[in-house]
Amino acid sequence: MRELYIDGHWSDATTTTGGRAVLNPYDGSTITTVAEAGPDDVDAAVAAARRAFDTGEWPSTSNRDRAAVLRRVADLLVRDRELLARDESVDTGKTLAEGRIDVDDVTGVFRYYASLVETDSGRAVDTGDPNVVSRVVHEPVGVCSLIAPWNYPLLQMCWKLAPALGAGNTTVVKPSELTPLSTVRLVALLAEAGVPAGVVNLVLGAGSVVGAEMVRHPGVDLVSFTGGLATGRRIMAMAAEGVKKVALELGGKNPNVVFADADFDTAVDYALAAGFFHSGQVCSAGARLLVQDEVYEEFVAEFARRAELIRLGNGLRDETECGPLVSAEHRAKVERYIERTIAEGARLVTGGTRPDEPELADGYFLRPTVFADCTAEMTAVREEVFGPVVTVERFTDEAEAVALANDTDYGLAGAVWTGDASRAQRVAGALRHGTVWINDFHPYVPQAEWGGFGNSGVGRELGPSGLDEYREAKHIYQNINPAPMRWFSGARKEA
Ligand code: NAD
Repeated sequence: MRELYIDGHWSDATTTTGGRAVLNPYDGSTITTVAEAGPDDVDAAVAAARRAFDTGEWPSTSNRDRAAVLRRVADLLVRDRELLARDESVDTGKTLAEGRIDVDDVTGVFRYYASLVETDSGRAVDTGDPNVVSRVVHEPVGVCSLIAPWNYPLLQMCWKLAPALGAGNTTVVKPSELTPLSTVRLVALLAEAGVPAGVVNLVLGAGSVVGAEMVRHPGVDLVSFTGGLATGRRIMAMAAEGVKKVALELGGKNPNVVFADADFDTAVDYALAAGFFHSGQVCSAGARLLVQDEVYEEFVAEFARRAELIRLGNGLRDETECGPLVSAEHRAKVERYIERTIAEGARLVTGGTRPDEPELADGYFLRPTVFADCTAEMTAVREEVFGPVVTVERFTDEAEAVALANDTDYGLAGAVWTGDASRAQRVAGALRHGTVWINDFHPYVPQAEWGGFGNSGVGRELGPSGLDEYREAKHIYQNINPAPMRWFSGARKEA
């Protein structure tokens, strides 16, 4: 096992745990066993990143040359698209088609940040004083710990790595212990693209051990984390001790608001994708459906009917539309939410159980589940279930729809479906969420910021703000005609 990558070398972990088995959630089989790092490995990785930052060439490499490396990474992602998509499918259970979309997405992200970095030359400031030259330049923050979740292992890591590298930082990266495969391949690809030794260091292992050490370590300047709310809170508290910069992309409880004047068929179709794409294990999943009175019953019935038709199976097969949940533990957690939602009085319209098909028996599958007649107080409406479970609430008018959609501790994303363009803009303006889709759900682009209001996080990924997370702004002010100031009388030179 040589899956740790520290200071330009592949190595085994210093721990003697025997590694960690990586399971295929489709059938519970072991794909491989990977190294399990310990605190000493993190220490070595941070030391390598520290050296590469303090004495290496990467932070002072020209923007143009760093952009060229990012573009080479993008080219290699294109070359290895199928391998990466396959890693993602067997590791997370998602379909190969979804894996390919993820690789295409991150290829675009590397290219976008290459262009952004290449065209950045700081900003001249007009101070109003002709004797002053003033400009604001950007510099890398330092050593960045990048910690990613299991639902989008490659995508979430690249949303961090592309801007972090583009800005000239050095990094220690850790994928989720459940899904390390694509990150191991990515790191090899970064080295091939010309990222110097020590600039990207890979450690694998448990969040509570390896991840926590990546946050606590005094050699780390910035922590960027994508994952659950509880972990995010812990990380923010740990990082406070060293006054580290923190970027957090946490969960969501995302309202999908359907007005009666929306195109019925399209709204149902997108509501399915919003709720059940990747078995609902998406931070921006439209797991909270709000439907207007006039079409409520008809919508629930049609939505549930089509949810029953979703084909579950092996993500590697073309006919599969939805894979399993990521692990047995995670499925058990989702099942507890289902039991609780029934106990709290919601109407189970479909799903709620494991599928009967014998070939799915060893995998961590759950049938797409629809709860109707839900209320804003129910646990599954307030908390992130992160599974194939959609709760449906009813509303009467625009004001109630907005109030319900904003009645959440989260604020990552939301959507509004309506045929009324004015209402669409009004509602989009009123929603307290980081992304709002009108008559659509799920698209994001590298050029536009991604992140959350409220408990959905701190900071933004993607877009220009996604680069700024990894840069310090420095103001350089030059007096080009210095002469004595004579502010203090004692400073006057006696004649
Ligand atoms: P998680 O919080 O359990 O783990 C995420 C990562 O943090 C993993 O690599 C894990 O090993 C590590 N970790 C765990 N404990 C840690 C600790 N104490 N210190 C440092 N690192 C630690 O999350 P998950 O279950 O892997 O992912 C699902 C969550 O991620 C969901 O809540 C989802 O909404 C969120 N997510 C958010 C976004 C977004 O863009 N906002 C995107 C994807 C996923």
